[in-house]
Amino acid sequence: MIRFLPPEVRAKIAAGEVIERPASVVKELIENSLDAGAAQIHIEIEGGGLRSIKVRDDGCGIPPEEVELAFERFATSKISSYSDLEKITTLGFRGEALPSIAAVSELQMLTRIREEDYGIYILIREGKIERKEKRGAPPGTVVVVRDLFRNVPARLKFLKSPRAEGEHILRVVENYALAAPQVKFSLSFDGRLVFQSPGTGRLQDVAARIYRVEAVRKMIWVEEAGEKAFVRGLLSSPDLSRSNRRGYSFFVNGRWIQSRALSASVEEAYRGILPSGKYPVFAIHIFVPPQDVDVNVHPSKREVKLRFEEEVSEFLKDVIRRSLLRQGFHPLQEEEIRAVVSPLFIPSSPPPALPPLRILGQIQRSYIIAEGPDGIYFIDQHAAHERILFEKLRAQILRRGRGSLLLMEPKLFELPPFAKGALEFKEIELRECLAEFGFVIEDFGEGTWLIRAIPSILKGRDPSSLLLEILELWREGERERFKEQMAALLACRGAIRAGQVLSREEMEELLEELSRTSLPQICPHGRPVLIRYSFSSLEREFRR
Ligand code: ADP
Ligand code: MG
Repeated sequence: MIRFLPPEVRAKIAAGEVIERPASVVKELIENSLDAGAAQIHIEIEGGGLRSIKVRDDGCGIPPEEVELAFERFATSKISSYSDLEKITTLGFRGEALPSIAAVSELQMLTRIREEDYGIYILIREGKIERKEKRGAPPGTVVVVRDLFRNVPARLKFLKSPRAEGEHILRVVENYALAAPQVKFSLSFDGRLVFQSPGTGRLQDVAARIYRVEAVRKMIWVEEAGEKAFVRGLLSSPDLSRSNRRGYSFFVNGRWIQSRALSASVEEAYRGILPSGKYPVFAIHIFVPPQDVDVNVHPSKREVKLRFEEEVSEFLKDVIRRSLLRQGFHPLQEEEIRAVVSPLFIPSSPPPALPPLRILGQIQRSYIIAEGPDGIYFIDQHAAHERILFEKLRAQILRRGRGSLLLMEPKLFELPPFAKGALEFKEIELRECLAEFGFVIEDFGEGTWLIRAIPSILKGRDPSSLLLEILELWREGERERFKEQMAALLACRGAIRAGQVLSREEMEELLEELSRTSLPQICPHGRPVLIRYSFSSLEREFRR
């Protein structure tokens, strides 16, 4: 027998299309805040979003008489006719997010427009309005979503741990921050701030909060107008790559989307520059005239249809390829690539050893000046010490020795949320690595570690910030080179810094130790340790 489903069943079914997991709620609420012209969006998550999701903005708010309407299906302020769909400039347009969320949760909203001096509070449980009243409020909108899917046990079953759901949410927020660099975002999990974007309008500034800062500095900036599209973005240089496509972020007219065609053209541009099995990291904005993109092709609007997809893909590939070549990244054989991207290598022909040097002094508290048989040497004290420590660490690991320094007071370290999700499988491997380097760490439960000892070369450094950096490296870097990279990182953090005055004995010891390393000319990151100014060029300068 065919019959009509009751309204609340219809609502739940419809909600299932849009709201798949807590991250989908966060996505829809952020889109609404952005459409409302917010300059700040603050997101607070509890229990991976299942207990509560709160999104607060300083946008335009909803007029008192329209608040109820916002929760009706197909009620929207963003389009008024079908033809409007052809020139969409907002993220939302279907009018289904709020009713969908309200159908599967307890939803509270407090919203105020600037023109009124009060706001409207509304409480909706499983789609029914239970309370609506005037309340004082700052201009803008706060939405609190509690007990998501409590009335949809089938959906609840498919959700992962709060930790894994938190990972999804973090990804959504990071990507919207990249989509709208002019907006200040903050995200907290159970009261802990886990992400913040500065709202400066610069994509680089957001990227620096998401990728490793060091990595962002080396990223390539592209910006070019073509016939069918304008492209602007940040791309990884070949030495920062991942073994999956999770570092891909595309935005079409400010909307975060996924696209096979666009992904393929970026990969094509990196062909031969990245080894196979390696994928770039990027945030690329593509702007096309609104009528050249159909945004109404996917239930959660994660895909769009570009009218000139082929032309845009081709243009994107060209722009990227040219930028990579301009930066000196040329396609190479796979063998060579490894050598180029790994400055930590031991070169096939041994480099010339350091000649005997007579120390003349230190300049700018950063460089040692010395005279050698063939010229004047400038030695970067930090880079030199880095090279020394790097080799010590490497030797220590090869010998399986442990140079640990027991901390007087063990230190509690709380794992950052990205690590909590990402380390579930690999934790053991990572912990073994840490132990090899001399960290002594115990699991303290609930995502916290107890640090008992650190590598002795790191005496006096803050163990927590070091661990955080190591975890970031673990998240970003390539597994095969992790130990190398970690050694380079620890060497860098343990090394004497620029700006430190050195005594003659200290300088002598440094050069002595440097001369005993296998590659005194280059620091573990591939930068020069020393520069020579030959006597012959000195003579040339003086025209002798
Ligand atoms: P859509 O975004 O597709 O229009 P929604 O169900 O997400 O549909 O929202 C319905 C309407 O409620 C929007 O069109 C908008 O007018 C209003 N609205 C929702 N969230 C906000 C907000 N944070 N600030 C201002 N208005 C909002
Ligand atoms: Mg919406």
